[in-house]
Amino acid sequence: MNSLVQPNDIRDVIEADRAHVWHHLTQHKTFETVDPRIFVEGRGMRVWDATGKEYLDAVSGGVWTVNVGFGRESIANAVRDQLVKLNYFANSAGSIPGALFARKLIDKMPGMSRVYYSNSGSEANEKVFKMVRQIAHRHYGGQKYKILYRERDYHGTTIGTLAAAGQPERREQYGPMPPGFVEVPHCLEYRGQYGDIANYGERAAQAIEDVILREGPETIGALCLEPITAGGGVIVPPAGYWETVQDICRRYDILLHIDEVVCGVGRTGKWFGYQNFGIEPDFVTMAKGVASGYAAISCTVTNEKVFNLFKDDPSDPLSFFRDISTFGGCVAGPAAALENMRIIEDENLLENTTLMGERLRANLWELQTRHEVIGDVRGAGLFCGAELVSNRQTKEPVEEKQVQAVVAACLANGVIIGATNRSLPGLNNTLCFSPALIASASDIDEVTGAVDTALTKVFG
Ligand code: PMP
Repeated sequence: MNSLVQPNDIRDVIEADRAHVWHHLTQHKTFETVDPRIFVEGRGMRVWDATGKEYLDAVSGGVWTVNVGFGRESIANAVRDQLVKLNYFANSAGSIPGALFARKLIDKMPGMSRVYYSNSGSEANEKVFKMVRQIAHRHYGGQKYKILYRERDYHGTTIGTLAAAGQPERREQYGPMPPGFVEVPHCLEYRGQYGDIANYGERAAQAIEDVILREGPETIGALCLEPITAGGGVIVPPAGYWETVQDICRRYDILLHIDEVVCGVGRTGKWFGYQNFGIEPDFVTMAKGVASGYAAISCTVTNEKVFNLFKDDPSDPLSFFRDISTFGGCVAGPAAALENMRIIEDENLLENTTLMGERLRANLWELQTRHEVIGDVRGAGLFCGAELVSNRQTKEPVEEKQVQAVVAACLANGVIIGATNRSLPGLNNTLCFSPALIASASDIDEVTGAVDTALTKVFG
């Protein structure tokens, strides 16, 4: 526990929090009976709360973010050195870490060429939406402006990205939404919406084509997809899906936007999730793992084809991308991101992620043989979901409160796991795991051991 914080100070901190902090995604009535949880220290995969209780964090800071683990002094030092040298200048000018990180990042992304800095996943995605609309105005007479998004995917919390949320409850009470966003169906093979067919992936991708033909391809600018759906249920698209999606985009001149906010920077055992599937995107957005939460940074990465669409007519005063993100000029972001990437390379964390991810899924499959309630286990690298069902034949989801009881039982035993967000009526039944890429075999076994105990407690 943090030796700088004395127990008396902690009570004061908790009361300050209770009185003045508005927590994310939280019904504050809860804090009339329990204290808000306050984390005070982290090392590796462990965190400690204000009561001194230790936890093994299997969700990388709660929302799959702290990819290289807590307490990295080398990142703190890189950020400190940069801050005392130059903390900020608007990003219409360049910076040393900004230039060096962009080159290093592009090195990992064959086919891509440009990095646009901002500071959250939502913002990075909004930049794409603005680029697509501007491309439509400048090159397609304003026609090709619609963005397709997929059922169960999530792209952020701003009004624009909410309009692209495949989780409709997230939009409720926040309307009206901006026009021009159109949903395409999902591809969760386990739930078999296209039946039990051999070419499931192709069929699921063709469902996207059906929407394109219904809307008119001349109206559609981009298709925005998570490579593996994260909060919507850790859904790995089936074989054949991505090749068909890529073909469809090319056939109808639709730009492909891959949202790597969760999968990016090592989470799946590749630098980027899309690299598991051989796709060539036009836009890639990323945030969480870029600097593992040591600084706020997000990137909108494009290929040269997209970039050139904004500099083909310098005589037109409206031709360039007229957008700014004030804190996209915070130089701590790329300074932290550079060191974060060095750590992943030098510590061979991609290899570790692949190995430990296999162990995590093998452990969960073993639990599946003993716990009837585990219907499906899926994922890639250290990114994994276990769907809980009350009946394996009908695949009836268990109740959300039962899933929350499993999460709570793990927490009580000192292991933090996640569950699909609470915005999917009837589908809040997937346990989520995204431990830091540094996880060891014993960490993984400790996580699945806690899940074993919790499942027995909740379901017998
Ligand atoms: N895209 C995906 C796939 C996400 O999971 C999230 C956040 N959970 C976002 C975008 C939005 O990122 P942020 O919260 O940084 O705006």
